[in-house]
Amino acid sequence: MATGKISTLLWDCGGVLLTNGWDHRERAAVLSKFSLDPKAFEQRHLEVNDPWEKGEISIEQYLERTVFYTARDFSMPQFVAAMQAQSVILYAENLRAVEELAASKKYRMALLNNEARELNDYRIQTFGLKRYFFSFFSSCYMGQRKPEPDIFRRALDIVQCDPAATIFIDDRKENVEAASRLGIQTIQMQTPAQLRDELRRFGVSAEPA
Ligand SMILES: [Mg+2]
Repeated sequence: MATGKISTLLWDCGGVLLTNGWDHRERAAVLSKFSLDPKAFEQRHLEVNDPWEKGEISIEQYLERTVFYTARDFSMPQFVAAMQAQSVILYAENLRAVEELAASKKYRMALLNNEARELNDYRIQTFGLKRYFFSFFSSCYMGQRKPEPDIFRRALDIVQCDPAATIFIDDRKENVEAASRLGIQTIQMQTPAQLRDELRRFGVSAEPA
């Protein structure tokens, strides 16, 4: 673990701050609400999720391929509203930590997450994430997804930060490992208490310097 000064914090969103936007659990809940067959849906989802999360297709195109390829007794806006309703605060304690760190103005804070554009925009707006983060290195804007190394390289290039002075926080092992291979400091978030302790070990705090 580095002892040097940390200047930049790159945060995942789903599973760290908010619930996942459209992962297994969220998909299962919405499919059940509309009585859709999960097996048929999941197969179609796999075919179009990657281009959707990379911003190559819209939510309408995604849903035309996965849900509305046949007549339904519900509308696309109803389905989208149910998708959005899956996004709620997961760890208020982590959001509070983000708020305090942002208010301290000691660190450059950005999001680095995998999310499709429409859900990402909804989440940024609904949870006021622009108050905390100066940039959003989201797969839908970057055209790349974690754990592809290029999404991390591009974020480092844009921020012009030293990877050793950067911490990437994510709940998934494969994402943390990918960042770590590029020399970025990493924390795999398991619990808010563990995250707080690990940030402290890196010397990251909202206290005045
Ligand atoms: Mg996550």
